[in-house]
Amino acid sequence: MGFSTDAIHVGQEPDPTTGAIIVPIYQTSTYVQEELGKHKGYEYSRTSNPTRAALERNLAALEGGRFGFAFASGMAAINAVMTLFKAGDHIISAHNLYGGTFRLFERVLKDFGLTFSYSDTARLGQAEAAFQPNTRLLYVETPTNPLMEITDIAAAASLAHRHGALLAVDNTFMSPYFQRPLALGADIVLHSTTKYLNGHSDGVGGAVILDDARLGDRLKFIQNAAGAVLGPMDSWLVLRGVKTLAVRMSQHNENGMAVAEFLAKHPKVKNVHYPGLPAHPQHALARKQMSGFGAMISFETGSLENAKKVLKSVRLCSLAESLGGVETLISHPATMTHASVPPEERRRLGITDGLVRISVGIEDVEDLIADLDHALASV
Ligand SMILES: *Cc1c(COP(=O)(O)O)cnc(C)c1O
Repeated sequence: MGFSTDAIHVGQEPDPTTGAIIVPIYQTSTYVQEELGKHKGYEYSRTSNPTRAALERNLAALEGGRFGFAFASGMAAINAVMTLFKAGDHIISAHNLYGGTFRLFERVLKDFGLTFSYSDTARLGQAEAAFQPNTRLLYVETPTNPLMEITDIAAAASLAHRHGALLAVDNTFMSPYFQRPLALGADIVLHSTTKYLNGHSDGVGGAVILDDARLGDRLKFIQNAAGAVLGPMDSWLVLRGVKTLAVRMSQHNENGMAVAEFLAKHPKVKNVHYPGLPAHPQHALARKQMSGFGAMISFETGSLENAKKVLKSVRLCSLAESLGGVETLISHPATMTHASVPPEERRRLGITDGLVRISVGIEDVEDLIADLDHALASV
């Protein structure tokens, strides 16, 4: 079946007791058993819950994997994946990561004996040089936040596999509608469902999808043992969001392209980072591995003062962290999402004080462009 059909139907058979077309919010901790050892497949909601199970089946189908796991947040999902590894294992990670992921690696997991190297995975030669005999995982986000740099997923998968390591891809920015890492050779796909999968800025959650049965069994064990599961209400909200993922993503993409083209032509804007623009240095790779370019854009205003003026002058775009909702959010990476990255490291990555990031929503695009045009006039 097609993507939208799967998004609307997989894991969502009508409720067997009432016929309800929508999977109910099974807000229950436990399940009554008929007799010792005889139950209906559910014993305790940390282990398994019907609403969460519906979401997990659905997300697995959309990413093309056999196993899906829903967690209490994107960070809980990433943390669960990292506990597939053990003290002494080495992980090579992309150097430009979601700030919370970098913080988890450096300030929590290092203390448990995992070792990390960081390299620019948009230039895989650099990652190749970082492999060690104990390297077990290559970890990437593509496109990156906020500069929209792209890692070649198929090439990264073969590089990892040549060295006996796995490839994990954080697919939050693209969603399975535009990018399916498992089909390109990745072993593990991660999501902050808080962003596009939920899509309505009303819940925090995370997910892991994979296809290998041995990894699937282990992650199922970890999910239950460590217990950072997504609750029934939040699982239901993501299920509800995913039904419109295809129509939302195609509108996000259309609006993203229009806003990027407007910014690229604007005399006050120095540089626009958006993989859909032919001027993007990896536009060809983006076309090859993604079926759309999404709605995350960053652009250079030239200085902190200019960035401040733009952020202060917008009326429709909301100044806020996060992304992937139906409403447009605008933010300042250097002082918001990347504030914990030391200034010299920010400079090295290209995250300047004048950089502004937009998560383009699905409002009428003329209104968004008028708002940005008005804000840029203040520069
Ligand atoms: C938001 C985000 C996360 C963390 O997810 P939470 O749901 O906030 O815990 C991880 N990776 C990326 C790319 C994100 O944007």
